[in-house]
Amino acid sequence: MPMWTQAVDLHSHSTHSDGQHDVHTVAETMANRGVKVWALTDHDTINGWEEGANAAARLGIRFVPGIEITCEVAEPAHEAELMRHAQERPSNSWHLLAYFPTWIPGATNEEINAFQRWLLPHQSGRIPRMMAMCERLGELGMPVDAERVMARATGSVGRPHLAEEMVSLGYVATKQEAFETWIGDGLPGFVEHRKPNLEQAVQQIHKAGGVASLAHPKYYGVPVSKLLEVLNNSGVDAVEAVHRSHSDAYRYELMLAATANGLGITVGSDFHGMDYGQLPGHMPAIIERLLPAVRP
Ligand SMILES: [Zn+2]
Ligand SMILES: [Zn+2]
Repeated sequence: MPMWTQAVDLHSHSTHSDGQHDVHTVAETMANRGVKVWALTDHDTINGWEEGANAAARLGIRFVPGIEITCEVAEPAHEAELMRHAQERPSNSWHLLAYFPTWIPGATNEEINAFQRWLLPHQSGRIPRMMAMCERLGELGMPVDAERVMARATGSVGRPHLAEEMVSLGYVATKQEAFETWIGDGLPGFVEHRKPNLEQAVQQIHKAGGVASLAHPKYYGVPVSKLLEVLNNSGVDAVEAVHRSHSDAYRYELMLAATANGLGITVGSDFHGMDYGQLPGHMPAIIERLLPAVRP
């Protein structure tokens, strides 16, 4: 008889990226929901690790330091697969979760430092990207002072701040117009932030002593057999079979395919906050299918 657990949740976001709650509140919510093994996986940053480790220690749960890295699309979407999951379009990046169970809070870890240095230009590297977008708009006849856009942000700068500045300069009437005409995905004023491909990211994760799991495959529109082929070729260790958005049938299909290909599975609620109507935890998974590093 396989042993099941509902005490693992390896995918969550805090205010260090686009989550609603600070790290401590995320940890508390996890613990209150019966989670015993918790990973914080903010987008492209490891800034919450020390706080996460402290919060988990206070609450008596295990902390797994993690990250969700924005990567290039590794395989184009198939229309039929998108339809099967009622996805209108595939996401314009693939998300790779990484876990570093050997990291020790407070200790100097050269491998992790090197990993962080590699991450820097990829980090929603918001400032260089914003400068590039301002430059692009200048070339389009709409000069924008990047400093003034930056000054509009209280936390990390993003396109909404640029849209506000464009309104105040009179280039567009509304923020919506800025997005729909100039700075939305793929439009003339849009600059994508530099993304690693899967292999590059996996290499860096492994070098730093980590393991990699592909987040929420449902969003990519790639049939499961093809997906596993891509993961095998890029050295990914696991697949997030149990994601909040996956149906039971899809979770099972992914788990079987992962097992057949010698890959583990991971479990994630992708918790962003209570205001989104989300709660972490309570997702059943078979213990022996989980990556050994993250088993309860
Ligand atoms: Zn994601
Ligand atoms: Zn996420």
